Amino acid sequence: MTGSDAAAAHGAAAHGAAARGTDASAPVTLDSKLQNVLGGRTATALAKAFGVATVGDLLSHYPRRYARRGELTALSQLPVDENVTIVAEVLEVRERSMKARRGSILEVKISDGKGILTLTFFNQAWRSRELSPGVRGIFAGKVSDYRGNLQLAHPDYQLFDAESDAAPLDATAARRWAEAPIPIYPATGTVASWQVQKSIEILLDSLAAVPDPLPDDLREERGLLAHSAALEKIHRPQSDTDWDAARDTLRFTEAFVLQCALVQQHTVLRERRTTPRVPVPGGFLERFDAALSFRLTADQDTVGAEIARDIAQTAPMNRLVQGEVGSGKTVVALRAMLAVADSGGQAALLAPTEVLAGQHLRSIVATLGPDLAPDLMPVLLTGQLPVADRRRALLRMVSGQARIVIGTHALLGESVSFFDLGLVVVDEQHRFGVDQREALRLKGAIPPHVLVLTATPIPRTIAMTVFGDLDVSTIAMLPAGRAGIESFVVPLADKPTWALRVWDRLAEELALGRQAFVVCPAIAPKQPEEGETIEGATIDGGARPAGATPADAAAPTSVETLLEELKRKPALASARIAPLHGRMTSEQKDQTMRAFAAGEIDVLVATTVIEVGVDVANASAMVVMDADRFGVSQLHQLRGRVGRGGVPGLCLLVTTAESGSLARDRVEAVAATLDGFELAQVDLELRQEGDVLGSIQSGGRSSLRLLRVATDGDLIAEARAYAQRLIGGDPALRSVPPLQEAVRRRLDDSERASLSKG
Ligand code: ADP
Ligand code: MG
Repeated sequence: MTGSDAAAAHGAAAHGAAARGTDASAPVTLDSKLQNVLGGRTATALAKAFGVATVGDLLSHYPRRYARRGELTALSQLPVDENVTIVAEVLEVRERSMKARRGSILEVKISDGKGILTLTFFNQAWRSRELSPGVRGIFAGKVSDYRGNLQLAHPDYQLFDAESDAAPLDATAARRWAEAPIPIYPATGTVASWQVQKSIEILLDSLAAVPDPLPDDLREERGLLAHSAALEKIHRPQSDTDWDAARDTLRFTEAFVLQCALVQQHTVLRERRTTPRVPVPGGFLERFDAALSFRLTADQDTVGAEIARDIAQTAPMNRLVQGEVGSGKTVVALRAMLAVADSGGQAALLAPTEVLAGQHLRSIVATLGPDLAPDLMPVLLTGQLPVADRRRALLRMVSGQARIVIGTHALLGESVSFFDLGLVVVDEQHRFGVDQREALRLKGAIPPHVLVLTATPIPRTIAMTVFGDLDVSTIAMLPAGRAGIESFVVPLADKPTWALRVWDRLAEELALGRQAFVVCPAIAPKQPEEGETIEGATIDGGARPAGATPADAAAPTSVETLLEELKRKPALASARIAPLHGRMTSEQKDQTMRAFAAGEIDVLVATTVIEVGVDVANASAMVVMDADRFGVSQLHQLRGRVGRGGVPGLCLLVTTAESGSLARDRVEAVAATLDGFELAQVDLELRQEGDVLGSIQSGGRSSLRLLRVATDGDLIAEARAYAQRLIGGDPALRSVPPLQEAVRRRLDDSERASLSKG
């Protein structure tokens, strides 16, 4: 491959490798540290670039694709605009500076004895050190026509070194080289694909035989390769068939190992013992149900029964309830809390934001009513509580007086303890990592039951892949009497004048005595620096959806700018408009939310702090600015804030994205359906895979490699079935030690730590 710096860094990689591998006292295994095999400098560079530490880590850094050097071509008949490979000798090297711009061009003339071709390199004068006249090699690249002269710009090349010079222009060897697929690795600015390739070749050359994580019968049944062979063929294929078969094997292995980890974890959790929680006759739950002003939906009933059955067991519940925004998950969770209170225990509700925790407290107190609330003494614990309030809350928790505790991350604090924590409810799971769920679980002297609520519908394959340790319940229907939401795209790229109509439409809603949200992707008007987060666009879990970058590089609409603009609009002259965003203190946010709920504010200009759970029945309209900057699921969540009462909701998705762009497609998809599951699937297909998992999982090197949740659903389901069968008969996987190892390796340290605490 091209370049000399990496070869130097690796110290004549290919040659030194085998020696280094066998010299070391211990054989090289998947667990060997990269620095012991590749040396500290290379290992550090790779660790920085890809987060890899061990041989196994780097060997699972698979090629992104395979390139082709193409057929050998004679210099005398080069086709323009095609990829060619030429065996030739360097004739002449010349460096010159560019006329119009700064920088230099290195021109290298090569010849195959019949014709002459020029290679050009921009600002890579150092290449003259290796491309000196008389040197021979193979050159590959795309032929271009520059002012009538054919050339290869920045070709890929491999020079024959002294040893293989014996047969420099051996046609067979040359052809084999030319036809072998070239692995192209995910690379960074500091570590190029071919540097990864060199390092991986060293690993493959020094690696001891890798035992197979798949049980033999399973491998045979599915016609898969041995693990060693698969690793070899995915990184050093001789043909397309090689890497294709290797991918099949490694993809299935990945699914299988992951499912074994999850199924095993589920089994381990089920084996733990906790206190069964059963409601008592005439107790809190009965009193609550008797006073409830509405009938539970059939789905609420079903899910409620599943939960009641779970928490009545000695095995801790570990259940995910997914349901549309407004489907009534909170009531279902509250009923479980009351059953726990009946049995003398406490329940904690973990909310993702202070605003939401505060709102949960108010709505739970209101739902319980003046009869029940004093008995259960719900308390709030957030990070910004005044010291005296905090002390009082902690006391009520540790004494057991408070049967219901609602809080943010502050609940995870060290000074926080409970008298008898029987149930942990995590609201809006996607904002929390596995770690936090586990940290709260540890607050109980014995493991509490765990209930996770999410309004982000999770396609089955993701549920299986990411939440494989949880049982899943679904609330699919909304309570009757919801007026619904109408959504429209406001495409400013095609219809710039509609910008004005948005505010007129908003004014009409206000004139009917209703309230509105205006959502912006940014807080302040400045263009964010690189690496800085835009609140709206990243809150979905840190990863920007693919194609979220708007076509133009215009700054995102900010709360501050728009607020001023709206205040000047004649149509909104009498409206009371206030901001809400993450840079306000929690006291300010809370005050604003209360005022909005009380009808003292007409329009909230906000960031996505309002995304989750905010519940104001009179809010009927929402305008989302730069809607293309938000993810599909996020838009759906946002929209769920309106149309919650008997008032029909209106959602205007304002975008400058061009018709036909991916960004525009996402916005159109949201406007086209209210079905959260359908949108979750769209999201899955339109986003980059890593983002999907990244937004649900707490990141790390635990993301998927070859597996694609959008397309590999069947494979994942099959792998899960195998895993269940195997673990059913052999929970510790003793019969397949390499699988045990692979499962251990699969769970990175933090993930493992939190899972095993379960
Ligand atoms: P979410 O699933 O988004 O958390 P909530 O639990 O906040 O939904 O419920 C939204 C609103 O609907 C609340 O005001 C709640 O009291 C009400 N609600 C819940 N269940 C029903 C029902 N079965 N019938 C009527 N209203 C309901
Ligand atoms: Mg909710």
